[in-house]
Amino acid sequence: MNFLSPQSILPNLPNFRYQQIINWIWCGLLTDWSGAKNLPQDLRAQLSQILPLTINAKVLTSADKKTAKALITLGDGSAIETVLMKHSDGRRTACLSSQVGCPMGCVFCSTGTMGLKRNLTAEEILLQALLWQRELAKVGEKLSNAVFMGMGEPLLNYAAVMEAIKILHEPKIFNIGSHHISISTCGILPAMKKLGQERIKVNLALSLHAPDDKLRTQLMPVNKTYRLKPVLAEALKYYKLTGRQVMLEYVLIKNVNDAPEQAHHLADLIKDLDQTAFIVNLIPYNDTKIFKSSTGEAIKKFKEIVSRAGIKTVQRYRFGANIKAACGQLASRKS
Ligand code: SF4
Repeated sequence: MNFLSPQSILPNLPNFRYQQIINWIWCGLLTDWSGAKNLPQDLRAQLSQILPLTINAKVLTSADKKTAKALITLGDGSAIETVLMKHSDGRRTACLSSQVGCPMGCVFCSTGTMGLKRNLTAEEILLQALLWQRELAKVGEKLSNAVFMGMGEPLLNYAAVMEAIKILHEPKIFNIGSHHISISTCGILPAMKKLGQERIKVNLALSLHAPDDKLRTQLMPVNKTYRLKPVLAEALKYYKLTGRQVMLEYVLIKNVNDAPEQAHHLADLIKDLDQTAFIVNLIPYNDTKIFKSSTGEAIKKFKEIVSRAGIKTVQRYRFGANIKAACGQLASRKS
């Protein structure tokens, strides 16, 4: 697929033609070249042969219509998943994958069980956004937000993710404001440092999931390399550099990380740094064979303890659990 660089398959066209082709793909949202009325007919016919606009995707929509999940099969047969969330305040958020699988092996995450197949190219990342833009256009809507929280660790595919962000942000293409683009990382410390230096400042979310190194290492092997305190200190630097509060993601798993003393421990950890720099996002876990979600009561208690310590705490709405589109459930299943 050459949606970003038609030059590579059609080398001898004048520059304005490339611009027209790119506009039709990304802004005109064409699914068939016959609609590209300002292109000569022979070029349209040629494009239909060498640059078909079909995205090979199977889309599932949740019963409440608030979430859709797509399984996209790429040119080499690899499959990735992407999710569209329709928020009641009008936001339309694409949750994007950055890798086929993930090498990080977090034990509570379906993607983590797959291992890494390969990195996605910038174009393959953007294809997911394009698919949702096309879907939304059918009802007169547009994407307003993009989050790198799908399959993969985005900071391990840094260059492609940054290239994709440029195009998501580009006013003439997706026009998504930098405040509406988020990257979620399990804590790849050197790349977090680099991210703070980027021209486009995006929101950073750090997957924490445990208030101490012992438990975090059990749940997230990355913690053997990048320990909790240095990673949190780097997140604080990101806040100071960008003025963006860092979201600390904490998935609540029954009898694993949801005890009141663990909530106190988490609050202390944050207070020792700077409680204004962080927002704690409590995410009810979606049950798997190994782990279960915390009870409503345990979540309430946990939230109370952290909030009472003066730390902003939010609780994520459970998007798409019934279509396995929720946090930690993306795993390119073909069924
Ligand atoms: S939680 Fe994120 S970093 Fe961890 S295995 Fe899953 S996709 Fe990878």
